[in-house]
Formats: sequence, structure tokens, C-alpha cells
Amino acid sequence: MRLKDKVAIITGAASGIGKETAILFAKEGATVIGTDIQQDLLKNLESENPNIHGYLLNVTDRPAIASFVEEIKSKYSKIDILINNAGITADALLIKMSEENWDKVININLKGVFNMTQAVVPVMISQAKGVVLSTSSVVGRYGNVGQTNYAASKAGVIAMTYSWSKEYGKKGIRFNAVAPGFIRTPMTEKLPENVINMMVEKTPLRKFGEPADVANAFLFLASDEATYITGQVLGVDGGLVM
Ligand code: NAP
Repeated sequence: MRLKDKVAIITGAASGIGKETAILFAKEGATVIGTDIQQDLLKNLESENPNIHGYLLNVTDRPAIASFVEEIKSKYSKIDILINNAGITADALLIKMSEENWDKVININLKGVFNMTQAVVPVMISQAKGVVLSTSSVVGRYGNVGQTNYAASKAGVIAMTYSWSKEYGKKGIRFNAVAPGFIRTPMTEKLPENVINMMVEKTPLRKFGEPADVANAFLFLASDEATYITGQVLGVDGGLVM
């Protein structure tokens, strides 16, 4: 087992990539703390997987995050891995994008990653060890029509990953980002057929990715197989960005 005895927090764990990652990490021996805002989905995940413990937690709620981290620290006495995965889209062309949708996406996808990481890193500093992985996107590397807010948030995740690697490498903490391409999850279910076909056509491997493709990348980066890897962005995108 590649994550035996590790304690891993995963945000957005009730659906899609986060759910697949939670299940895989639990199978690999980790105690998984799965957080999300979808209470029923979390309950289902927990009831099917004894090593996954669900917590209702909004990544924008800083006071709730502070109490959550205190609770996890006293219950499990350590945090080995944080996976910043919660994210949303609210697409529109630049001139049609509302300020509300700009703020919403930046607040969850970018500030949410800052909130969680800022709360967890002090625990990792005290352990002199830890791994923080965040979900960026191909869109954060090369932009996308209708996704000004999302692209900015995902590029910001990469920039924060670089900065934190430089700040805390000497404390034994590794930070990496994963940049998925188009992955089959509830987030991409709503894409129109013509957009899906266009993306598949542009992807060298000519197919959508599956949540397991991203979960496997997280597993490698979280494991002791990646102990000399930090400040990297791993594309899981069928070759879309190269
Ligand atoms: P998903 O199936 O929608 O799962 C995301 C989960 O995060 C949902 O349960 C969602 O709840 C939850 N969430 C939303 N806002 C939250 C908040 N404020 N606090 C805590 N949890 C929150 O999406 P996914 O496709 O697995 O995406 C996971 C991550 O991968 C996201 O960061 C996404 O941007 C990134 N990504 C996805 C793709 C793709 O093609 N699917 C590609 C590149 C990157 P709600 O359902 O209520 O929103």
C-alpha cells in the first residue's frame, strides 16, 4: 500500500475527481478526510468506505476551516497530505461575465486553495513534513474562450504552488499541481456535444480522461515515490498542452 498510515484531507471529495481520489487513497492505506458542501453525497461516500470520513466544509469559510483543522489535529495528531480539489465553473465571454460570477469562481477556486493551505501548512511545518497538491487545469496554462474567471483562478493555483514550494521546501513540505484536461465528471457533463467533439479532436490521445487518470497522478505525487518532486505542474490531459 502506497499511502499506509497517512492522513489525507481532500476538498471537493463528494464528486468526480475528488471522490475517485478519496476512494483510491483509502484503498492505498490512507485515512481520508473528505470535505465537500454536498452533504448527501458525502454521506454515501462515507457509508461505502470505512476509511473515508466526511466533513461538511466550504473552502470559502475561513472560521470553519480553522476549527476543522483544529479538530483534525486533535483527532488524528497529524496531517500528511492536503489535496485542494474543490472547484466550480461559471462561464461567460469577458464582456458578458458578471462581477458576481468573477468573484464566486475566484473565491472558491483560488482563495479556497489559499484558505485551506494557509490553515494546514502550520501543522505540516510542526511535523517538518507534508504534501500539498492542488488541482489546476489546462485552462490555467493556455486559456479558454468563456473562462476568464476560471482560467485566472487555475493560473493562480499554479503561481501559488511555485511560491509555496520556494517558501517551504526547506521545511520538508512539497507542493505540486495537477493540470487535468477534459475529464468525464459532473462538471463536464453539461458541456455541449459540439464542444466535447472539438476538444476530443484537439487531444492527441483522442479521448476524454477519466477521474481515475487524475486520481492516479495525485497518488504518485502524494506518495514517497515523489519525495524529490516539488514546484511542478503535471498535465493529465491526453497531450492537449505540450
Ligand atoms: P465536480 O464533480 O463538480 O466536483 C467538485 C466538488 O466540489 C463538488 O462536489 C462541488 O459541489 C464541490 N464544491 C464546490 N464548491 C465548493 C466549496 N466552496 N467548498 C467545498 N466544496 C465545493 O468537479 P470535478 O470535475 O471533479 O472537478 C474537481 C476539480 O478538478 C475542480 O477544481 C475542477 O476545476 C478541476 N478540473 C476539472 C476538469 C474536468 O474536466 N472535470 C478539468 C480540469 C480541472 P457542487 O456540486 O455543489 O458544486
